[in-house]
This record gives sequence, structure tokens and C-alpha cells, in this order.
Amino acid sequence: MRVILLGAPGAGKGTVAKLLTDFDGSVQISTGDILRSAVKAGTPLGKKAQGYMERGELVPDQLIMEIMESRLQEPDCKKGFILDGFPRTIPQAEALKKLLQKLNLKLDLVVNLDVPKEVVLDRLTTRRTCSNPDCQEIYNIKSKPPTADSKCKKCGWKVVQRDDETEEAITKRLETYNEKTAPLIDFYKKAGSLKDISSTSSEQIVSAITGAMKGKK
Ligand code: ADP
Repeated sequence: MRVILLGAPGAGKGTVAKLLTDFDGSVQISTGDILRSAVKAGTPLGKKAQGYMERGELVPDQLIMEIMESRLQEPDCKKGFILDGFPRTIPQAEALKKLLQKLNLKLDLVVNLDVPKEVVLDRLTTRRTCSNPDCQEIYNIKSKPPTADSKCKKCGWKVVQRDDETEEAITKRLETYNEKTAPLIDFYKKAGSLKDISSTSSEQIVSAITGAMKGKK
């Protein structure tokens, strides 16, 4: 499947994307994960992105499009992709449209995960992430804790709070979302490809998406 997941930070895009990849071998592409790995590895991309990310601001569109142009052409995208955290602005959505045309690919669905603000805030402050750049498994100290000594249950690396998950950065990320990313809901509604899902259970979200995909075949 070729799907875009829209939704505020903490809406569950990452969790849902990971569950969806089990269905048909589609890959999860998270620009946030790609950027965090680059920051950790200290690559030129990471050095350019770090400041924006720590402040909870968006990384410039041009940098993101360079990443996506090459990522979408990697062989593992042949079976499909779940875009998680991209596009994040109207210019990114316009550029993605052109890129998909160039690559001769069609999107199946754009999903909007519509989650109440209180739920999102609570999730972001209790969220923890595996520090292994190749794993980045998501935990939650209330609903999905790591091991007692804060290790990842999958790979054993330390599970940490992200640098951009301080209260200040979270508030900024939510503002940035409302200002820059929420307009994409209308953008895709007009294009006729949007599906709104207001459930907060990742299993229910996944079954709504796979159900919509079956309807397409
Ligand atoms: P969340 O969705 O929880 O905010 P992400 O992991 O998707 O977190 O993104 C973390 C940070 O990485 C963002 O706050 C932003 O600085 C940067 N980022 C990720 N994806 C994009 C994008 N498509 N465009 C611009 N910046 C991005």
C-alpha cells in the first residue's frame, strides 16, 4: 500500500505505521526517524537539522525533499510505503505530488488521525523512545513500559525521553502542527483522497485502514 499518515505529534502515526508494515511488506518511512539517526551519527544532514528539531520547529522543506527523493527510490519501497511525518507543509505536499508523478506512482490513501488534544499532550509527556538509531521502538511509561531498568525490550539499548519532548518543545511542536501541517487535511480532502479516523486505539485504526484498502481493490 502507498499511504500517508497525517496527525498531530502523538496521534499515533509511528505506532500505526509499524503495525501496517506487517500487512503487505510496505516500509515505514518516518522523516523524524531519518533525521534523528542523522543527528546521532553527526552527518552533514544531521548537523543542518539538529537546531530546528531541538526547538520543535520544522526542518526546511528543501532538505526534507532531498531526503525523500532518494528514499522513495530505494528498492524496499517497491512493495509500498507508509509515510509517517511527511508531508508536513503544503510545499512538501506539492513537491511530493510532482515526485510521485515523476516516479509514476499513485497514492492509495491519505489518513488523518484525529485525536483529542488532551490525549496527545498526555502521550507526548509519557512517551519514551529506544535510543538505538536502527530500532527507535516507541514506549510509554504508563501503557507500554520498557524493562524495569529502562532498556528496550527489542534490542536492549537504553530507552530515553527525546530531546524535543520537554514541555516547551512539545508546546512548540503542537503550535507548528496547527499552523503548518493541519492545512494539509483540507489539501487532501479537496483531492478526494482523505480518510478521517477518530479512534485512539491503534488496532482499530489499523483495521479501518486495511478495510479501506480492501475496498480499493
Ligand atoms: P512528531 O510527529 O512526534 O513531532 P517526528 O519524529 O515526526 O515527531 O519529528 C520530529 C522533528 O523532526 C520535528 O519536530 C521536525 O523538527 C523534524 N521533522 C520530521 N519530519 C519533518 C518534515 N516532514 N518536515 C520538516 N521537519 C520534519
